[in-house]
Amino acid sequence: MSKTIAAVATGPAAGPIGIIRVSGPQTLAIVDTIFTPQGGGALSERPNRLLTYGALHSRDGKVIDHCLCCVMHAPNSYTGEDMAEIQCHGSPAVLSETLSALFAKGAVQAEPGEFTRRAFLAGKMDLSGAEAVHDLVTAVTTQAAENAAAQLDGVVGTHIFEIRQQLVDLVAEFLAVVDYPDEEIDSHLFDSACEILHRATSELYDMAETYERGRILREGIPCAILGRPNAGKSSLLNALAGVDRAIVTNIPGTTRDVIEETIRIGAVVLRLYDTAGLRDTQDPVEKMGIDRAMKQAQASSLILAVFDSSDHISDDDLMVIARTHGKRTIAVLNKSDLPSELDVQNIQRHFDYVVSVSAKTGEGLQELYDLIPKVVGMDGMSFDGSTITNARQAAALVRAAERCEEAFVAAQLGMTPDAIVMDAEGAIAALGEITGQTVRDDIVSTIFSKFCVGK
Ligand code: GDP
Ligand code: ZN
Repeated sequence: MSKTIAAVATGPAAGPIGIIRVSGPQTLAIVDTIFTPQGGGALSERPNRLLTYGALHSRDGKVIDHCLCCVMHAPNSYTGEDMAEIQCHGSPAVLSETLSALFAKGAVQAEPGEFTRRAFLAGKMDLSGAEAVHDLVTAVTTQAAENAAAQLDGVVGTHIFEIRQQLVDLVAEFLAVVDYPDEEIDSHLFDSACEILHRATSELYDMAETYERGRILREGIPCAILGRPNAGKSSLLNALAGVDRAIVTNIPGTTRDVIEETIRIGAVVLRLYDTAGLRDTQDPVEKMGIDRAMKQAQASSLILAVFDSSDHISDDDLMVIARTHGKRTIAVLNKSDLPSELDVQNIQRHFDYVVSVSAKTGEGLQELYDLIPKVVGMDGMSFDGSTITNARQAAALVRAAERCEEAFVAAQLGMTPDAIVMDAEGAIAALGEITGQTVRDDIVSTIFSKFCVGK
């Protein structure tokens, strides 16, 4: 019999309310001993999911809170087991007293992700749905949450189940004729196999391809602000972030360390790095800062190359241009509030995207905001769950697509059924890793170990 687990489900910071979850066969018996509903009766006899007001007791029977509690009877609960949720006051004192009361009655501390793991094992959700739970807990943007919610609802799982089932049926048909002499096998079988495998291959590649954007949706993108000293990098970071975060001065070389600020632009989370101005210098400390700026630029997916439009292009600017080579870059011509001295056409020759702004007055910032999602390929994206945000799922999709493609080629060449069956089975196994139908235990453990306790 499985153990009854308990954990605080709300964050580590004390909030007004804290939630403790309990799941497992002993749940009802245990919570009945520590919670007495107002007006009498037992909590375990209350209807499913109905919040009940009452007194919460510590392990020595003292009343430590007056709060709300509910039970969810198996199988109609998140984990499929008997569950309870205690919504008490959020102080560490109340939460730890309540937990220790539960432990004293026989519950044990839940491991990270154990509630969701039990839900997965009970068939309440497929593995891709369980992974979406983690995405929902950590979502930074509305769009990321929307996409994860759809995946929790089974958008990915359902699609994969369908494709997988078609392959399973296909394999069954070929296995039925595997011992026939070639000339006795109906050629229609190969035709329909080609059709199914071709469609599955392209659908799987399409899904895998969404990961490039999905990763950005989930993790955001690193974006270095590069430019010569005094171009206005720190001012630009402050203007974009809307706070005076980086130190702005007119003494060149002030920003010697890398300063990070995270901002949201629609669905895009941008991790901005303000860097030391690039220039030829003998100062060893400044040199180190420049070195770090170069590394930051190298590690970034997007570079904002800042130029001072009130000045001519200098050798330092040329160094900036050289550093952005081969990188997704937006040239930001700053100080548009001042008379222009910059050879704009020269800049335009080097960059696909050029925008004029004034970090001082805010002029042109909106244009830059609008441009960024476009440049990173995130404009006009849908967040209906069709975007894969998970590296594990993306890798399995590619493997499945490759095996489908091989099976397709085999079917097209009219090769023996066992060749087709072997590749199709490889694809079936890869797809099963996404849904969790065929996945190794240690992989499942790794997935859930990344969850927080209480989820
Ligand atoms: P950084 O060295 O590239 O980080 O440049 P800063 O952001 O420290 O700015 C250098 C100087 O340029 C400061 O005196 C800023 O006030 C000034 N500056 C920055 N942006 C603008 C702008 O858009 N217009 C004007 N007129 N001055 C600016
Ligand atoms: Zn600076």
